[in-house]
Amino acid sequence: MKPAVRRQLQDIGVQVDAEVYPNVFNDGVMAPKGSIVDRETLGAENYDEQQGPCRSAAGSWQGAAGWQRSSCRSRASCNTEPSSSGRLRENYLGQLDAVFAAYPRTAVWTSNEGMWLAVDSAVLSGLDRKAAFLIAVPFRHFQPIRAWAFWATAVSRTWIGPRHTNAVDGSICAFNPSEGTWKVGGDLVALIDQYTMWVFCQLHLEVIGWWPGKQTADFIYERLTELKHNEWCGCRPDAGRYAECCKKSDLAADRFQAAMQFVGGFLKFKPRKPPVSVSRLICEGGEPPVFTRARPDPMLFVGSCLFPAKVDGKLSGSAAWIMQRFDQTRNR
Ligand SMILES: [Zn+2]
Repeated sequence: MKPAVRRQLQDIGVQVDAEVYPNVFNDGVMAPKGSIVDRETLGAENYDEQQGPCRSAAGSWQGAAGWQRSSCRSRASCNTEPSSSGRLRENYLGQLDAVFAAYPRTAVWTSNEGMWLAVDSAVLSGLDRKAAFLIAVPFRHFQPIRAWAFWATAVSRTWIGPRHTNAVDGSICAFNPSEGTWKVGGDLVALIDQYTMWVFCQLHLEVIGWWPGKQTADFIYERLTELKHNEWCGCRPDAGRYAECCKKSDLAADRFQAAMQFVGGFLKFKPRKPPVSVSRLICEGGEPPVFTRARPDPMLFVGSCLFPAKVDGKLSGSAAWIMQRFDQTRNR
């Protein structure tokens, strides 16, 4: 990692940890709040406007039988009745232009049941890799959106987890669904910004060694095995640092019982990892997994999450944050 990129990572990490949220530019490039950004180099390594906003949108993705694959601004037409799911479908399809504008390296597949988005995010300008998201967007209200993240280089794809991923499919847990940060039918660009932020925190954990910012970690064993002493404790929204909050009582707790609660009760004794169909799609291309009409696994609604739950029915400070988004082409 270049020293300048590491400095960006540290600077933004310090801000995020203090609940000051960064700016995000097109292509998912994050910059510290209040910084003077060098727009000449912003995302230049990853995004070449000369080739249009769809430059690498679908280059590595093979055509998929049974799916309508679309590129920028030329989506499959749809003939749906004005049902609830039809309106949700119209809503999401109507947001695709905004998604392509904010995240130019996006590919989309649509079907009657839902759509898949493959979105590349630069995360930091000059980073030696990019984040590749696979996002399943069902057109049914009771089915939550699920997304997986991978680090992508020219020669590799590596799943990002298991910290703050859902049991047991390893999907991104960027916020607690009960807190209202994002709801079904909401702004897709804002959702992808949240995923970019989550990946930033994963990068900070990997390179700097700890997770910045507020988080949810309800399980004793989860806190013992994952939280560093200087991180915010995940037991409740207004918790202090782990070392001053739950660490002492966690260490004194029955370790076997705590492990059974998390590894058995929450994880069902299974490792968190993406479904084979998702890994295959990100690594080899081909056909996206089909949307099933079955109800989703209820475990998808709970888990260790980035942001704390509502306090007294209101959004907590960190849940209500909005990253200021800049259009880098407009600001040039
Ligand atoms: Zn605590």
